[in-house]
Amino acid sequence: MAKPPRILIIEDDECLREFAGDALSGKGYVIERAVDGHEGLAKAATFLPDLVVLDLMMPGLHGYEVCQRLRADPLHAKVRILVTSSKSFETDQQIAKRSGADAFMVKPYTVAGIQALVEELIGRPQKNGTGPTVEDRDTMTLHKGGGAFIETRNDPKKTEVSVRFWGTRGSSPAPGPDTVRYGGNTACVEVRVGDVLFIIDCGTGIRELGLSLLKEKKDEPIEGHILIGHTHWDHIQGFPFFAPLYIKRNKFNVYSVRGSSKSLERVFRGQMAADYFPVPLNNLAADIHFVELEGPVQIGPATVAYHYLNHPGVAIGFRISAFGKSVTYISDHEGFQRLNGDEDLNKRQDDAVVDFARGSDILIMEAQYTEEEYQHKRGWGHSTFDDAIVRGLASEAKHMVLFHHDPTHTDEIMDRHLDYCREKLRKAGSNLFCSAARERSVITI
Ligand SMILES: [Zn+2]
Ligand SMILES: [Zn+2]
Repeated sequence: MAKPPRILIIEDDECLREFAGDALSGKGYVIERAVDGHEGLAKAATFLPDLVVLDLMMPGLHGYEVCQRLRADPLHAKVRILVTSSKSFETDQQIAKRSGADAFMVKPYTVAGIQALVEELIGRPQKNGTGPTVEDRDTMTLHKGGGAFIETRNDPKKTEVSVRFWGTRGSSPAPGPDTVRYGGNTACVEVRVGDVLFIIDCGTGIRELGLSLLKEKKDEPIEGHILIGHTHWDHIQGFPFFAPLYIKRNKFNVYSVRGSSKSLERVFRGQMAADYFPVPLNNLAADIHFVELEGPVQIGPATVAYHYLNHPGVAIGFRISAFGKSVTYISDHEGFQRLNGDEDLNKRQDDAVVDFARGSDILIMEAQYTEEEYQHKRGWGHSTFDDAIVRGLASEAKHMVLFHHDPTHTDEIMDRHLDYCREKLRKAGSNLFCSAARERSVITI
């Protein structure tokens, strides 16, 4: 039985090291990891890899030197070297080639992208006695007739993460002439990770998202992953009006944690019971699966993690991470210290929410009340603008988007609230960029 090919990943960025390792171990390769050039060379001497996935800009030895030393060592006469770098200059590709690399891949890359290139370089692990193996790979036909230098340039669209707001309002829809700019639909956020579709919450905004998807995909099947923060009306009410659910070729997975007293599926079934809606859940034509989360999940190129929030019943926030970028969604959350006092436990719980959001590129953060409004709404499970600012600052996010606007906050009022937040951040000397979610607006990272 042939041994599976061995791959050494030399990469100083922990996220990318794990990303590449997971992508390749999932295909059955044997993986070893090193955090810099020195460790990489030391591990190569004993691990004897068939392929080295090599970063360029690392502390200690840079990737070019590692590449040259590997090439100079007879022990590694047959090793293939795949250089990965976010430096996309032609010059770097040429230096890599001169240093002995077999291929060059521009970061960020996708799971499918690195899997395909690695397979091209060393073949895939043997399954059921078929397919090339490490023993016969030397006789494989290589890219372009044998050992040619492979240059890949990822389509930036494939590693793009974009966020589009379809519903920005909290509690109740608030349509009308006074909410035209920020929007009147309840919570619904579309997140595209490469070409994978995520939908966070199914407030009334999802109806328009459904129509937009049908227009975009025409007769093609639509597949999506719906993340539900909690099942209060303003977060699920649009679900029965999401038109792609009525078409057989479409497929949706609905993720959340189990409800406080019944399963996630039963909650959704309940809102479509005969007393409330004419079409029962069973009559929806699409292939729909309900998934009760018990930990983070990998969905396509993204890792989806969740964190419990302080809101009546069971509520969670989400963090979607992919290609070294992250979008965090914290909606319907009242600070623990704010509500329960400043005991140590409450502080730790508040800190945990901040840690969950730490370093997010986009932090979608509930901010429903002014300090004055909060005095009358204490214990309803929501935050103030000041709370959002404290969390945004502590989490060191890059862009905070205020969300879950109160139904009474008109466009004019929202402008004032946003100015208030920006002024506070300016006075704090922060670089955190703050905006307020507007229906249909898009942010791309
Ligand atoms: Zn809500
Ligand atoms: Zn709620």
